[in-house]
Amino acid sequence: MDVKKLIDDSNQYLMDTYKRFPVVLVKGRGMKLWGADGKEYLDFLAGVAVNILGHCHPRLVVAIQKQAQKLVHVSNWYHSEPQIKLAKLLCDYSFADKVFFSNSGAEANEAAIKLARKHSKERFGAEKTGIITALNSFHGRTMATLTATGQPKFHAGFEPLLPGFSYVPFNDYEALKSAIDENTCAIMLEPIQGEGGVKIPSDDYFKHVRELCTRLGILLILDEIQTGTGRTGTLFAYEQYGIEPDILTLAKGLGGGVPIGATLAREEVAKAFTPGCHGSTFGGNPLAAAAALATIETLLEDGIMLSECRRMGEYLMNSLGKLHKQFPKIIISIRGKGLLIGMELTRDCSMVVQACFERGVLINCTAGNTLRFMPPLIVTEEDIDRLISVLKEVMERLS
Ligand SMILES: *Cc1c(COP(=O)(O)O)cnc(C)c1O
Repeated sequence: MDVKKLIDDSNQYLMDTYKRFPVVLVKGRGMKLWGADGKEYLDFLAGVAVNILGHCHPRLVVAIQKQAQKLVHVSNWYHSEPQIKLAKLLCDYSFADKVFFSNSGAEANEAAIKLARKHSKERFGAEKTGIITALNSFHGRTMATLTATGQPKFHAGFEPLLPGFSYVPFNDYEALKSAIDENTCAIMLEPIQGEGGVKIPSDDYFKHVRELCTRLGILLILDEIQTGTGRTGTLFAYEQYGIEPDILTLAKGLGGGVPIGATLAREEVAKAFTPGCHGSTFGGNPLAAAAALATIETLLEDGIMLSECRRMGEYLMNSLGKLHKQFPKIIISIRGKGLLIGMELTRDCSMVVQACFERGVLINCTAGNTLRFMPPLIVTEEDIDRLISVLKEVMERLS
């Protein structure tokens, strides 16, 4: 493989929407990835919180192979078993009664927004369309989800945005309360702001938001595209807040790496979707659904992966805490739940990400100055020790 030629072709033929690292990845196994040049990487990014079972987990590989031999795609004009089983599994383990499948996070949120508006218009009248989201949030890149995303830097150049959206500071109940008017149909929030820098709300924030929504007939949409499917140590992050949403969206980890999105809702809300009013050609096709089924079944089996996620999350938090003590001038704070952990630095963190990459560790920088760790849920103490020793070396050079 001519790596240089490939990267040149990548730059020539792919639109310039990503700043890619100069490596062509060719193989993965568990926590590890290999470049075409044979260099080994330890993966604390997991394809942006996607590969929850790690790379090439045997159960996922076998499920995909078996399904590919039987049936890959049939459209949603017919029933197919993996999709039905997956929908039942998600409903059995959540607040939801019904599921709509799509192919990505943005599409899952797009469906949530459409469902919320249709439900609220039918129930309360044509004006009830307002959607409140949080500043610093991230909900996707389609026009509706981009509008829902409360960060001007993502909006720039794509205006006009959709009407009917407004924004409030995250974790500020009073601000949310005063932003509501008689036309508010839904409040859409992430349980933890992921792209926004791993921002965790105070313990009672979501309890109060839930009460307010119930009292005023406003739908609570939780975007669990990043926090869902085990990432925070429970199947869904909302379980840890002691509340239930009306609509919930999933994607990222759901298919273990195969693209799939899901919008979950209570029966009373879900029934606003009737034949023909929403759809997706690929949504929940047999291949993607079989992959997701294998992923979630593996995740839930004996509860081992979830308890390991919590244990390893604590181990990583403690290890990062020790680094914090050693480098108080570089590190401001460490925040996280399960294996979604952010470490805020006093400076731009892209240099740290680059230095880790050069040393064979993949991490990510979000919100400018926050390192984000979201490894596969199979991560071990040994992997974490390796990450910490690389971070330590990089920080020593910085200070
Ligand atoms: C990644 C993400 C999305 C968008 O998902 P895509 O699959 O990239 O469309 C939406 N919301 C949250 C919270 C995310 O982390």
